[in-house]
Amino acid sequence: MLDQKNKRPPFDHTAYRDFLDDGVIGAAAIDDKGIIVYANQAELQLTGYSSEEYIGKPLSAFYSSEKGNIIKLLQEQQETNNLEVCVICKNNIDRWAILTTRHFTDADNLTCTYIFNRDVTQYKKNEDLLWYLNTAVEELAQARDTHTALQKISKLIVPKFANWFTIDVLNNNGTDLLILAHEDPEAVNWAHSYRKNNPIDLNSDRGAGGVIKTGKPSFVPVITDEMIKSAISDPEKLKEIEKIGLQSVITVPMFSKNVIKGVITFISSIPGKYYDETDLRFAQNLANHIALALDNARLNEAAIAEIQNRRQIEETLKLTQAQLRSALSSGLVGTWTLDTQKNTLYFDESISKMFGVPYSPEGCDPVLLRQLVNVDDMNVADRLRNKAIAEQGVYETEYRITVNGINKWFFVRGKTELSNQNNEKLLTGVVVDITDRKRAEEALKQSEDVFKLIAETIPQKLFVTDKTGQINYYNPQWEEFTGYSIDKIKELTLTHFIHPDDLQNNLEAWFAVVENGDDFQYEHRLRQKDGEYRWHLTRALSLKDDQGRVVKWIGSITDIHDQKLKEQKKDEFISIASHELRTPLTTVKAFFQLAKKLIDTTDRSFIFIDKAGKQLDRLEKLIADLLDVSKINAGKMVYNTEAFNFDEALAEAVESVQHITDDHRIIVHANANVSFKGDKLRVEQVINNFLTNAIKYSPDADQIIIRSFVQENNIIVSVQDFGIGIAGENLNDLFERFYRVDNTAMRFQGLGLGLFIAAEIIKRHNGSFWIESKPGEGSTFYFLLPINGKQDFLDIDTDNKTYYKGNFVSISYNKHTKWLDVDWKGYQNLESVKKGCLIMLDLLRKNQCKKVLNDNTHVLGNWSEAVDWGSSVWFPEMEKAGLEYFAWVYSPSTFSRMAAEKSVDINMGKITAQFFVDTKEAAVWLKNK
Ligand code: ADP
Repeated sequence: MLDQKNKRPPFDHTAYRDFLDDGVIGAAAIDDKGIIVYANQAELQLTGYSSEEYIGKPLSAFYSSEKGNIIKLLQEQQETNNLEVCVICKNNIDRWAILTTRHFTDADNLTCTYIFNRDVTQYKKNEDLLWYLNTAVEELAQARDTHTALQKISKLIVPKFANWFTIDVLNNNGTDLLILAHEDPEAVNWAHSYRKNNPIDLNSDRGAGGVIKTGKPSFVPVITDEMIKSAISDPEKLKEIEKIGLQSVITVPMFSKNVIKGVITFISSIPGKYYDETDLRFAQNLANHIALALDNARLNEAAIAEIQNRRQIEETLKLTQAQLRSALSSGLVGTWTLDTQKNTLYFDESISKMFGVPYSPEGCDPVLLRQLVNVDDMNVADRLRNKAIAEQGVYETEYRITVNGINKWFFVRGKTELSNQNNEKLLTGVVVDITDRKRAEEALKQSEDVFKLIAETIPQKLFVTDKTGQINYYNPQWEEFTGYSIDKIKELTLTHFIHPDDLQNNLEAWFAVVENGDDFQYEHRLRQKDGEYRWHLTRALSLKDDQGRVVKWIGSITDIHDQKLKEQKKDEFISIASHELRTPLTTVKAFFQLAKKLIDTTDRSFIFIDKAGKQLDRLEKLIADLLDVSKINAGKMVYNTEAFNFDEALAEAVESVQHITDDHRIIVHANANVSFKGDKLRVEQVINNFLTNAIKYSPDADQIIIRSFVQENNIIVSVQDFGIGIAGENLNDLFERFYRVDNTAMRFQGLGLGLFIAAEIIKRHNGSFWIESKPGEGSTFYFLLPINGKQDFLDIDTDNKTYYKGNFVSISYNKHTKWLDVDWKGYQNLESVKKGCLIMLDLLRKNQCKKVLNDNTHVLGNWSEAVDWGSSVWFPEMEKAGLEYFAWVYSPSTFSRMAAEKSVDINMGKITAQFFVDTKEAAVWLKNK
């Protein structure tokens, strides 16, 4: 019996399942492989599947646990109690369940695991929502500014609770969209633009508008396509809305202290994810917390603003008090009070000092001060004061008082106030000594008057610009000249009157000056009212402030037309005269040659004939020079280009000069036995000129050395004499027309045209020239002619950042010393100097370096035109790029050193430059900077 009792009957699955079939708890059974073999009605209802869809499938297809493989978990333990699992129900809806299991083995030894499933989705959801709410409230409470808190909350909500989350707050005339959140930033952009076009309609009974109107939430648990279609008639709008994929929407009002502040909307756009009443409660709860937080934030912000405002007021007050104290202590400001009832004036010691009257703390009769005021100002002051008292207003005037014989200006200001007792009127105020200001104003006015007077009376046209170079003043002479009113001229601007052929260069020159702040000088033609163009010289001086910034340019434009015409006439005359002189001279020379042949050299008259011949040669040369100059000026110099052997031409030139001198021997070192393409006669003319000058300016010497050689595709010629030499300051002007060094002008015959013509010829052959000279020791004149017709300045290698190598310069940034090493080589001209300097500027910028070691030791000549460009354009740019120290190592060539010094002296700005003869010394100097 006992045995019978203890022995359990074999487990009967069928009976057990019959029993479970009608149970309210979900139950299922899996075999030892985890395949579902049984499910009761409650289980099928819970998961939403039919028994065909459910039974026969592995349990893991529906159930999962965070703890690991669900089947293992269930089968490995004898019994499982309260395992939290997630159930994937039909239509992908997730539910949460708590599982309990039991294993049963039947008579056939078949083991089944029974699963009992309690749906806890709702609890779980409540728990989650509670967590959201708590976290959100915490965020809001901790937040320094609400906006950041709301951003964080958005992240909590999206996408777990809602796919779209918006907060709109009411303002005076509508709503502001405070938050619009979605996972996809592009969707956010789209929604913003949608909302811009479709703001909340506060008059609507539906949606957010309705919620605001009624204060009641709007909750649509399941949104069907039909619902959307019936609500939105505009097809465009409908298309847009369909993009959202609305599934379920909650819009709740935000209340704070029973006042509606705005609305919050939660949208689910995941198919099957629908909101329920719990969600609605959560939404409402959250909305109220947010409303409260927003309210608090607003109060907080207002409080902070108020505190800041007060602080500012306090600061200003402190400042004003300090200013007042310092004003009062300056002795230039005094305070006063006029008691109208008692007719007593009280003033402080400052006023007593300023006006030179005794100080009395008991006050005095106002007449005492009134009578001091200059009669011309007295009546105005009286009238204004009485008016201020009558109208209880402000009294403000300026008057003069003679203090100790000196006329002084004072500014007075007062305000009428009612005193508390007896309704007395008190006028209280200050007096300020404004004599200095008045004097400055008068001086300014006077100088302006003087300027106006000058501007209106002088014959020149004047203009004044602002600091950007825009003209803002034209004197009346412009009206007379152009026939337009000043206003019209301002409208047309000066460029309207400039000759089209001069305009481009004129503007370039002007813009360069505006950039550098230099003075300006330019010759151009301006159109007068009858349409005729007249030559003018424009000069503009820049006016600078204390910091060296240009304030304005003042320009004068002088009519130089007649002068210019005279010059042209003179040139024409020289041209005609030299032509006319040449013809008879040629005839005279021919007859002279004949005569010379006929006379016996032993004849006494031969000496005279010979002398006459030399003078004839000189005359011929002078006339030829004059003719050349007039041709150069008229741009009519013709060059006959041909290929010739250079040294042969040189020999011919030497021979013709040697022929006319007995005192000097010309020593020739000719090493340019190359073919050169150019105007042979003109090149000979240059050599001829250098040689005759060398002879002329070395009367006590007996030899001249001429050298020719080829270097780097250039023919270089030097003519060296041992004569009087040239002082440094005269070197630059030598190549000007009619220029002669002062102290030689009287001693030596000449017109000062030879070098001008020579320079012109060399330039036309794309060559360059330079001079080395020492007064008393002699000069060497050089010129260079490029064999290819153009000097080649070739790039060899560069990384465009730290180094550049060319055949004329090498530049490299030394990262240890942090300076640019620049080594110029060979013969330079304007082109090479510009090219090298611009590369230097580029590397200086790229390496942000402040120092340059500019080595000219290997320079062999320099083109003087580069000097002006260097000082006016390049140096200021280098300064802007950050250059601070510039070590300049001399070239042995004097001319180049001259050029160097000129550049730096002219435009040092913030740059410190120093000259050296030794590269090492230069490096030491730079290192110590
Ligand atoms: P010119 O010799 O007719 O005066 P140039 O144009 O040939 O005109 O020379 C201009 C000036 O340059 C001369 O007046 C003289 O002062 C100076 N000059 C030219 N060559 C020499 C030289 N070799 N030595 C000294 N001074 C010279």
